[in-house]
Amino acid sequence: MSILSWIDNQRKLKLLNAPKYNNTGSDTSQGLWTRCDHCGVILYIKHLKENQRVCFGCGYHLQMSSTERIESLIDTNTWRPFDETVSPCDPLEFRDQKAYTERLKEAQERTGLQDAVQTGTGLLDGIPVALGVMDFNFMGGSMGSVVGEKITRLIEYATQEGLPVILVCASGGARMQEGILSLMQMAKISAALHVHQNCAKLLYIAVLTSPTTGGVTASFAMLGDLIFAEPKALIGFAGRRVIEQTLQEQLPDDFQTAEYLLHHGLLDLIVPRSFLKQALSETITLYKEAPLKIQGRVPYGERGAITKLREEQVRRLTKSPTKGQYQEFITEFKHLLGVLSNETTEFDPEMFNKALDLACGSNTRLDWLNDKADKCHIRPVFQ
Ligand SMILES: [Zn+2]
Repeated sequence: MSILSWIDNQRKLKLLNAPKYNNTGSDTSQGLWTRCDHCGVILYIKHLKENQRVCFGCGYHLQMSSTERIESLIDTNTWRPFDETVSPCDPLEFRDQKAYTERLKEAQERTGLQDAVQTGTGLLDGIPVALGVMDFNFMGGSMGSVVGEKITRLIEYATQEGLPVILVCASGGARMQEGILSLMQMAKISAALHVHQNCAKLLYIAVLTSPTTGGVTASFAMLGDLIFAEPKALIGFAGRRVIEQTLQEQLPDDFQTAEYLLHHGLLDLIVPRSFLKQALSETITLYKEAPLKIQGRVPYGERGAITKLREEQVRRLTKSPTKGQYQEFITEFKHLLGVLSNETTEFDPEMFNKALDLACGSNTRLDWLNDKADKCHIRPVFQ
């Protein structure tokens, strides 16, 4: 056997062995034991899960699935997921060693998710928040069009409902199988965040976990009003080797770690996992009370129509047999709209928004609506 063919054989063997090794290493749902990626200590999975996947030996934060993350951040029984059925397609009919559709199917079966992010609303220590959690186990947490769309919808919902947004990032970057369609998600999410942060003046916190790289770092991960990270998380844009080869320079050992970035001013806080929920709830509370906080408003063009649920609530009220007790509320709406007085006229969300803007004055639309709804004992949208 020539040396070349021996090397080739070795390479093939390595490739064959690689997925098996990864499965036992990263898919910790199977088996009882796992190994710490950092110090190599053998860990009992049941205890590890109870400890939020933090190594007992060295305190290293192992990867967490999106569901575990949601369980650790959101109060029990308050999670309300969004867009669970939005699933990716294959517009470019991309094929490398495997077809993209096959890769998708495999990842969906393994993780039980449609794509690499879970979004929704829930209570965090009793505070309503909009939360998006990326899942690294789904094709490396790569950002395809579904991830981008779900995050954008979450942000837009939060903007309209006046909720703070928290995005937990864990991603290898944009998804190459969707080409330009995945790259455009960066601009789309950033645009939605601009309205959320700068027009509506609402809070967005990015939580960076290991690893956060590529297009995700280049867009929403670095746009947080506050950027939190987990200890020793790998955060960067291009990989270490690429930078070293381009610059022809040796990089420091702790380059692209959370600690290095905090030292150089890219992050605001490094929070250990066990304190993350507390840190988030305290920050949001503090931010609400901030004396210089100006209330913003969502501009017309960017604002969607009033949510279907609220529209339906108003519509039912006007037809409800017990509408007597809500008379004040209804009269006010009728007065504002002029359209509801005639029951045959269709409900016009645009008129409704314009009327609300007049009525809101300096308050946000949401506060005004919730105030009215509270007075009439209608449950607010967020339960
Ligand atoms: Zn360890």
